[in-house]
Amino acid sequence: MKHINRKEKIKSLFANEPSFRLKQIETALFSTDIKNWNDISTLPESMRQILTKEVPFISLKVEKIHDNKNKDTYKAIIEVDSGDKVETVLMLNPRGYWTVCVSSQIGCAMKCGFCATGKMGLIRNLESDEIVDQYRIWQEFLSENKDLPQFISNVVYMGMGEPMANYVNVRDSVNSILEHTEIGKTHITVSTVGILPRLEQLLEDDKWPHIRLAISLHSADKQTRKEIVPTSYDDFLPKLSDWCKRYLQKFGNNRHHLTFEYVMLKDVNDTPHHAKLLAKFSTAIGNVRVNLIPYNFTDCGFSCSTPETIKAFNEELENHDVTVMIRKTQGEDIAAACGQLIKKNESKK
Ligand code: SAH
Repeated sequence: MKHINRKEKIKSLFANEPSFRLKQIETALFSTDIKNWNDISTLPESMRQILTKEVPFISLKVEKIHDNKNKDTYKAIIEVDSGDKVETVLMLNPRGYWTVCVSSQIGCAMKCGFCATGKMGLIRNLESDEIVDQYRIWQEFLSENKDLPQFISNVVYMGMGEPMANYVNVRDSVNSILEHTEIGKTHITVSTVGILPRLEQLLEDDKWPHIRLAISLHSADKQTRKEIVPTSYDDFLPKLSDWCKRYLQKFGNNRHHLTFEYVMLKDVNDTPHHAKLLAKFSTAIGNVRVNLIPYNFTDCGFSCSTPETIKAFNEELENHDVTVMIRKTQGEDIAAACGQLIKKNESKK
């Protein structure tokens, strides 16, 4: 069953209504006081009735919410209207606020060797409202759990799927979150394997919101990258470097950098040689930061670099004046960490 985009549907239902009515409806979707269309008391009764009949108030159904032992990570298994399942994660960040991690696709076509979602293949893109509703689910969850901190400060597109392979829906969902929440551009990060045609597109796209971008680099050696990220190709790295420079020229400033994500895979991409290549690649570009991600278990035949190796890798980068941090892993015990999201919960450790 094809999912009907909520915004389009509402637009078509109320084609003759003034545009402020559509705004009113959208704004209401982000209010935790409003639980269904009927609660929008500022809307005429007739419109509320039509909405109730024609448009689901939320596009997703929560099947289950798992919490981890530290109570700093929650993972929701949600069902979309086609019956497929997708996952979204809520993580407490170091500032004591929440980061919502959203999925952009059901499954993923990129097949990165270390990622559980990659094993599923792509089922379908999520519509922008299905992405936005992952945020709304957590907003609702927090409003029902008043003992928890209440403030969501960040949204990251690091769940299932490749956001740049679902460009328009991702762009629209980011714009909607920016418009209807207090979350600002520097608190939203889209993570991408680096689909260059889409990265080129966003450079010229007036509707692209200049939020933060993280690029899953994982190796600055072309052969190693091709092995672990099969969508890579021989001249990917020089092309990416060129794009990064142009991006930073256009949009970079002291609050706007690019991030390279680098999953630490034992004996694959974690040697001093790899660190030197990464340092050279990064410093040639300029305002980039490197996030080292300890590999999370996914039963894909890889293992995580040892803490000593990660530390040494980190130091090597620092010695070359690269801004680098080691990402803290959260939610491993509920298979909610990076790369562990899959359609069913069957690979839970
Ligand atoms: N498709 C997007 C979002 C992926 S998830 C992308 O490629 O960027 C966010 C990050 O987690 C990516 O950098 C991804 O490569 C990384 N990741 C995937 N599997 C992982 C695993 N098993 N352990 C640690 N990080 C992983």
